Amino acid sequence: MTNNKRSAQDQFVSPDYYQIDDLLQEEHILVRASIRDWVKREVSPIIEDYTERAECPIHLFRQLGEIGALGPSLPEEYGCGGMDEISYGIIMQELERGDSGIRSMASVQGSLVMYPIYRYGSEEMKRKYLPLLAKGELVGCFGLTEPDHGSNPNGMLTNIKDAGDHYILNGSKMWITNSPIADIAVVWAKDEEGAIRGLIVEKGMAGFKTPVIHGKWSLRASITGELVFEDVKVPKANVFQAIKGLKGPLSCLSKARYGISWGAVGAAMDCYDSALRYSKERIQFGKPIGQFQLTQKKLAEMITEITKAQLLAWRLGTLANDGKASPAQISMAKRNNVLMALEVAREARQIHGGMGITNEYPIMRHMMNLETVLTYEGTHDIHLLITGLDVTGLNAFS
Ligand SMILES: Cc1cc2nc3c(=O)[nH]c(=O)nc-3n(C[C@H](O)[C@H](O)[C@H](O)COP(=O)(O)OP(=O)(O)OC[C@H]3O[C@@H](n4cnc5c(N)ncnc54)[C@H](O)[C@@H]3O)c2cc1C
Repeated sequence: MTNNKRSAQDQFVSPDYYQIDDLLQEEHILVRASIRDWVKREVSPIIEDYTERAECPIHLFRQLGEIGALGPSLPEEYGCGGMDEISYGIIMQELERGDSGIRSMASVQGSLVMYPIYRYGSEEMKRKYLPLLAKGELVGCFGLTEPDHGSNPNGMLTNIKDAGDHYILNGSKMWITNSPIADIAVVWAKDEEGAIRGLIVEKGMAGFKTPVIHGKWSLRASITGELVFEDVKVPKANVFQAIKGLKGPLSCLSKARYGISWGAVGAAMDCYDSALRYSKERIQFGKPIGQFQLTQKKLAEMITEITKAQLLAWRLGTLANDGKASPAQISMAKRNNVLMALEVAREARQIHGGMGITNEYPIMRHMMNLETVLTYEGTHDIHLLITGLDVTGLNAFS
């Protein structure tokens, strides 16, 4: 299913105002070229239509596996990419340049499902799930948020009770990316001592349901649902033994937030690129609108902010490669780069005038998507409080 809209033709040219490419290795440039090609070929021609219909292009899962976008920085021995953190970031940037929903499909699978299985799962779990998840033959989701516990997951009510050779799981999760199409769910629940535990729930287990959440005006090409558990029998072998407490889910979120800090730059680059092109083509008062100082101010500020965000992401990537990127540093990059992208999208929308609200151009879709990105994986304000806690040592949450 393709369309003839201008957005479907995808003339994207990547901005690199500070020659940041010089900081990348050949491997990074190659990865970027292959993902960019795939996005131009497989995502751009269909994404506006899927977004309009609020339908998830599920067929892309296997392709995401083929291009190495699912768990790219996890080890090759489990069928994953074995790449460094900068390659992982670049993959997220290129996917989100196409659409935040497509990046979300890959982020959830790689960072929120595969990563905890790799980090906290038994050898048997790793061998059973990781190769299939890496290929996109299995789809996973991550259940942390609950109807009454979003920013404060520690208050979760979902719980497991020991029943001899298995646990009984009860509760519900809300806003779960991929849940209605997922084969497995990594779920966080409290045990009888009140400790948060991670476990794998499989589709088809009795008492487990995944209703779809309808009516989203954001991330429309990504499917979102609930997870409902009514006395679900979960084998003990499905529970992560290597982790207890909130640091389990938070470590996964750090991995995903790192990817988002790169991904948001991709969405911003797409909006800027479209606005720059439009500003040279659109004639008003006898000249291109790009010749007016007010349009130039918008474009100059957009490329300045994109360049700062690119440098932040790159430096965070080098820290992550050395195992030194702290959760607070990741929070700062996620928060800065997502708001930057949203503001770039808003300015780009103005440059496109009335055309900016249509799906002839990618702007409005990115803008609507970025409203979710600003909120999920820790809201904009929660990340500010994390930075505040880090610099003052004083906890605003308690
Ligand atoms: C499309 C989509 C997909 C998602 N996918 C997933 C997923 O796959 N898995 C998953 O587990 N979750 C997922 N989420 C959930 C997401 O992470 C939560 O929406 C987010 O953490 C915020 O929780 P909330 O919506 O309950 O908002 P709330 O926590 O109720 O926050 C509402 C407002 O209050 C503010 N606030 C809260 N506490 C404080 C405070 N202490 N100080 C100041 N302000 C505060 C927040 O910043 C926010 O502005 C998804 C959400 C969306 C929209």
